[in-house]
Amino acid sequence: MDKRQALKKHFGYTTFRQGQEGLIDQILSGRDVLGIMPTGGGKSICYQLPALLSEGTAIVVSPLISLMKDQVDGLLENGVPSTYINSSLSPEELSRREEAILEGRCKLVYVAPERLDTRDFLAIASRIRISLVAVDEAHCISQWGHDFRPSYKEIPRFIRKLPQRPPVAAFTATATRFVKEEIKSLLELDSPYEVATGFDRPNLFYKVAKPQNKLRYVADYVEGQHPDGAGIIFCATRKAVESLAKELQKKGHSVEAYHAGFESEQRKAVQENFMFDRTRIIVATNAFGMGIDKPDVRFVIHYNMPKNMEAYYQEAGRAGRDGGDSECILLYSPADIVKQKLIIANNAEMGATDRDDLLRGNLQTLVNHCHTQECLRASILGYFGESQEVENCGRCGNCLDESEQVDMTTEAQKILSCIYRTNQRYGAGTIIKVLRGSKDKRIQDLGLDGQSTYGIMADRSEGLIKEIIMHLIAQGFVQMAGGAYPTLALSQASRQLLKGEARFHLRQERLDAAEPGKKGKP
Ligand code: ADP
Ligand code: ZN
Repeated sequence: MDKRQALKKHFGYTTFRQGQEGLIDQILSGRDVLGIMPTGGGKSICYQLPALLSEGTAIVVSPLISLMKDQVDGLLENGVPSTYINSSLSPEELSRREEAILEGRCKLVYVAPERLDTRDFLAIASRIRISLVAVDEAHCISQWGHDFRPSYKEIPRFIRKLPQRPPVAAFTATATRFVKEEIKSLLELDSPYEVATGFDRPNLFYKVAKPQNKLRYVADYVEGQHPDGAGIIFCATRKAVESLAKELQKKGHSVEAYHAGFESEQRKAVQENFMFDRTRIIVATNAFGMGIDKPDVRFVIHYNMPKNMEAYYQEAGRAGRDGGDSECILLYSPADIVKQKLIIANNAEMGATDRDDLLRGNLQTLVNHCHTQECLRASILGYFGESQEVENCGRCGNCLDESEQVDMTTEAQKILSCIYRTNQRYGAGTIIKVLRGSKDKRIQDLGLDGQSTYGIMADRSEGLIKEIIMHLIAQGFVQMAGGAYPTLALSQASRQLLKGEARFHLRQERLDAAEPGKKGKP
């Protein structure tokens, strides 16, 4: 049987999804693989099919006992002999299953990582032919991932102890470059074939907005939507959830609040009201959404910026599950960045500065996303490492933005000069003060008021200069270095800008937002 026949026969599908075929082919050829796909992207088939088509038994390491049972039930229904082994089984049931495995009667065996360390399991594994080891949720091996599980360290140890090393297939939906590298090195993958795919959601319209009054923006937005269109509005805090819900209710909208501070009875009721269309809009913290699969959510608004791109993608992805056109709007305000940085600082464990830097880096990626002038879909897919590049999707806020682009090259040059003249030693706050000619005592103490760039942007608002700096960072014209209080430095690209070989533009809309009251060309 070839792989297409097996796909049809056991899973009932006639075509592979993007990325699946390559992963399957490579596993079948004996190579290690790393597959990065979003939740629901179709990772399971990538190891189930090779397991079916290979001689021997595949070991599937999976972190969640409840998911194991579901997976195995599904496989058995499809006529794929398989089983799982975990602590939920009685001793009799366990030995029955072990026997079946030893007799080679299972094509797939799901195990929890803790199990790999037991003598019994290792004894069994050494006596059977193992076709491959598949590792689900592979990011759990990384201490820096959001889901570290120490027992995942058993996996490479287990593989090393096997009489013959089978191909190892790792899967995750997490794509930060750092975690990816950790997976490869900690799982000891041998020059793996890597694919990241399936992250595109063509029916979602992405937009980033920076309204001066978020409440009014959201109220207008909700007003302008189809009166039946269901939506979710995510806020960063419980307090924000409650007050926004109240405001929208006052305006007569069908809205309920949801966060982890409510009793479980109430949470359940709110969920059900939403599922059954009795409530149109939910204002919630990110506690909402896990396990809620309402297909016809027409919009997701992020009232506050989430902590990183993965969280954003997950939450925005709750829109348009039915494939219908839906909007994902990310509202952005500088205060949100400050808030997120405070959360990182407050959670800081002693000595865990590496981790904080990582979290700050992840946050910055999303901040850059908010300031990019390029296609937002391309920005998201680029983050997830998706090979096929979208340049202009024509279906995002940036692609459709026809607002005037204002040449701000001179302003950018002034900022770059100031960073350079002050020896690339200061953060944005100080640079802005120098440029605006601040009388701040600290500026005087540092002798920065004698700088040639002191006061050269005295006629510009702090907000505008900050906005330009954010865009310069997002476009790679300025680099950030250092941990909690990053300093600004020049990059290769900034030299081009300084020499006038590159130009820098800002959208009129962004200028207006940064300098309210000062309309028109600066
Ligand atoms: P993941 O493990 O990546 O979260 P799953 O493997 O559970 O995702 O797959 C998600 C859904 O997509 C499942 O319902 C699965 O049956 C379906 N699916 C997977 N591959 C295909 C395919 N080639 N064609 C159609 N549906 C598929
Ligand atoms: Zn686009």
